[in-house]
Amino acid sequence: MAAITALSIIALSHPIPAISIATGITAVFANMLGGIAPDIDQPTAPMWRNLPVGRIFGKVFGALIGGHRFVSHSILGVIIFGVAWHFFLVLLTPSFPHLNMTIIWWAFMIGFISHLIMDTFTREGVPWLLPIPIKFGLPPTKVFRVVTGGLVERFIIFPALIAVTLYSLYTHQKIILDLLHNHIK
Ligand SMILES: [Zn+2]
Repeated sequence: MAAITALSIIALSHPIPAISIATGITAVFANMLGGIAPDIDQPTAPMWRNLPVGRIFGKVFGALIGGHRFVSHSILGVIIFGVAWHFFLVLLTPSFPHLNMTIIWWAFMIGFISHLIMDTFTREGVPWLLPIPIKFGLPPTKVFRVVTGGLVERFIIFPALIAVTLYSLYTHQKIILDLLHNHIK
């Protein structure tokens, strides 16, 4: 949800180049993928839970890259995923010449980084500076942070993100209509 919120705020506050509908839809999916990708290092991550042998595979993969909130939850992880995602999109470009890969790259990265920012507000914190093994959190005092999957997350933060997204869409209706009419081809 934070990924979508960040994407809509950034997309609406920047001049957007003309994109195809395919690019727009792919960007939204890339954004959601980016939003869950950092949790690839958690055996309980949604992407593992929903695969048949995912749990076992997730545990093995999680152990390999260092376990819960490790390298994919750091600046180093942002760079690794950013470069890997870039090369993956470069590979796809010949097959999908009509997709604007720059937009799709950014949509994924916005999702990815918004995930790390949200995790920073949780009790566990985020090891932003790996390999320096310090976890950072906001506010610095742990007790005031959000419990992952807890009541505050479910009943305050999640609805608040939806509200912010809807509000920004609502207040930018003109831009959205203009986007649909003139920028989507
Ligand atoms: Zn996470």
